[in-house]
Amino acid sequence: MAEHPEGIVLTTVDAIFNALRRNVAAPVLNVKPVRDTVNWARKSALWPMTFGLACCAIEMIATGAGRFDIDRFGAGVFRPSPRQSDLIIVAGTVTLKMGPVVRRVYDQMPEPKWVIAMGACASTGGPFDSYSTMQGVDRTIPVDVYIPGCPPRPEALLYGLMRLQDIIMKEAPSAYIFESDGTVHRQRQLEGDNEARETDAEEEALTAAR
Ligand code: SF4
Repeated sequence: MAEHPEGIVLTTVDAIFNALRRNVAAPVLNVKPVRDTVNWARKSALWPMTFGLACCAIEMIATGAGRFDIDRFGAGVFRPSPRQSDLIIVAGTVTLKMGPVVRRVYDQMPEPKWVIAMGACASTGGPFDSYSTMQGVDRTIPVDVYIPGCPPRPEALLYGLMRLQDIIMKEAPSAYIFESDGTVHRQRQLEGDNEARETDAEEEALTAAR
């Protein structure tokens, strides 16, 4: 039995399950057909948080209505609880007072989870370079997709959603490292990451040679 830093007591059964996840489930999930199937299931059934902060939220709401119909992308089941959500669309201005609340909601969502920063305010603070506005929600939570615009139209949100689905299809489902003390780390490994790094290294070598 071990004591987690956050006060959770882990039993021997927990330790056995963590070891099984790390040593058996993770390698199986890495096999390409399994990985593609898991990723396809994840990207086809995104459940966004019911969460809006300012004017951009109106466009997000419009995206769920019949004219644009976000359900076509499998992302129309807006959930009233972070525990049931795997996507948070930050739609609107994030004030410094609201930042810790956004963080708490994000922390309450189970892994795997993704974030879309919708609009100029959520991405960079937008027109509000003021004492009270957070200059981008990525100062408090990690963002996967940024959508420009003030506000972005529903089509832009759907486009951002499709780009997020592309990212999910490239993820390694086994990118979750299960520690023996019960903590879970997420390592963002996308297909092509190594190739990109090699290309960068080659370019740096060429620049140095010149
Ligand atoms: S980006 Fe524009 S529309 Fe969206 S919350 Fe900010 S001010 Fe409102």
